[in-house]
Amino acid sequence: MRLLLVLVLLLAAALLFASMAAADPLPPNELGRVMILEYHKVDRPEERWTRTPENFRRDLETLYARGYRLQSLHALLDGRVTVPAGTTPVVLTFDDSSPGQFRYLEADGIVRIDPDSAVGVLEAFIAARPDFGRAATFFVLPGASRPNRLFDQPAHEGTKLRWLVARGYELGNHTLWHANLGKYGEATVRAQIAQGQAWIQRHVPAYRIRALALPHGVYPRDIRWALAGSAGGVAYAHDALLMVAGGAAPSPYAGAFDPTRLPRIQAVERELAFWLAWFERRRDDRFVSDGDPATITIPASKRGLLRADVPKNLRVVER
Ligand SMILES: [Zn+2]
Repeated sequence: MRLLLVLVLLLAAALLFASMAAADPLPPNELGRVMILEYHKVDRPEERWTRTPENFRRDLETLYARGYRLQSLHALLDGRVTVPAGTTPVVLTFDDSSPGQFRYLEADGIVRIDPDSAVGVLEAFIAARPDFGRAATFFVLPGASRPNRLFDQPAHEGTKLRWLVARGYELGNHTLWHANLGKYGEATVRAQIAQGQAWIQRHVPAYRIRALALPHGVYPRDIRWALAGSAGGVAYAHDALLMVAGGAAPSPYAGAFDPTRLPRIQAVERELAFWLAWFERRRDDRFVSDGDPATITIPASKRGLLRADVPKNLRVVER
């Protein structure tokens, strides 16, 4: 009887300890890595390049529950981490402007966002959890054939791009019609990029496109063709080039951060599960915000990993 009591007490103490450990906020680690997630189709059924609306919703719930908060790609590029203290920024990206990413439903003259399209799922989730933040970047194809041309509702394509920008989402270049940039010479590469931008800017003229997601992750023969230049009277300049794979991205404050080679994690079941588990185990590798966009809080032992050219307006704090 006494033994049983001791066992029960031990179990209670273990449970209490476990719950305290789980509730402990993570210490800031702003040299940890960040996940830039890459979605393609959001539709049914689940396939290699398709996430169902249900699974996308579950991804958001899992990310939220595990302490991730949405951060925009542009903010990350600027080294402006704004998520609350103790949470981890995560960047959402959507490639190829397929219809399930952003669909309008029309009935009785009323247009509304399809709650099962990615934008609908995301907006509903944010409405329920406003502290998740609101951010995602859409790498759209303005000149692709159906169904990948600007979400495949021609009558609404301009409205959708304007709505995304007004709502705080970001647009990125993915070339005019998904050209494999490794296959072409300079003139075609530059024309694909410049026209992609110009066709987006027909709908959102003042919008500056800062990032290019490389179709198939393939670089042109000369990276400079993708970074900046002009074609047909249209000038472009990118702060970032995004790949289609490569794992978690270095912290924007780390020497390893290279915005011209930003790796991404494909948001499919296996990859997501792998990286979520990875960052549960490897806390030292996980970016955790200090809650103050003006300071960079790092473990003292990792100072050597800081980039040499930390922006002047940011102060480094060791913990
Ligand atoms: Zn693509």
